[in-house]
Amino acid sequence: MMKRISLLEMAHDIVGSYLKPGDIAVDATLGNGHDTLFLAQCVAAEGHVYGFDIQRQALIKTYQRLLEHDLQRRVTLCLASHADMLNHLPQQYYGRLGAAMFNLGYLPGADKTVITQIDSTLLALNTACGLLAPRAVVTVLAYPGHAGGDLEAEQLLAWSQRLDSACFRSEVILSSHDKPTAPRLFVIRKQADLL
Ligand code: SAH
Repeated sequence: MMKRISLLEMAHDIVGSYLKPGDIAVDATLGNGHDTLFLAQCVAAEGHVYGFDIQRQALIKTYQRLLEHDLQRRVTLCLASHADMLNHLPQQYYGRLGAAMFNLGYLPGADKTVITQIDSTLLALNTACGLLAPRAVVTVLAYPGHAGGDLEAEQLLAWSQRLDSACFRSEVILSSHDKPTAPRLFVIRKQADLL
């Protein structure tokens, strides 16, 4: 039987193909810290990851996960909204981001009413896109299956279609169970400079 790869694994495959040791990356939604750990491994000891979440519990979970792998020194954890990314990222890294990952919705095992909100999500996405290096990527895993997530996914699609196609290519990858409520992965690739 063919192995089904999850959208999370697919996001990691895509981001992993962009990042190299020494890069700077952002995890815009720490959650349980899986993406942060992955990013920290990709950027290696010379690189750095900035991670954001508005719930202290997510920072604690992520820190514990990093400690288990002794990778905590590669990561700066910010108890802040991803919409405030600019205030936390050193200016020397503007225009240098190799990748930014978003995993929307609520933190599994925590308060399900604390969910990402489309206005701050789009603000953060615009900021992240503006911070990207010439050949870089943003991934957004969206979950239309929960209240609020449906509208968020719809607006994300509209946003991705409005991006300047001279700079960005966007695609949406649907999960293998093609229900309207199934998660979907948005991939926004910044094109390398043409000159
Ligand atoms: N739905 C995913 C996990 C998403 S975790 C799954 O099931 O695997 C999403 C995280 O985003 C949560 O930890 C939540 O606290 C965080 N979050 C919500 N709003 C945010 C914001 N404005 N800035 C940064 N993180 C935010």
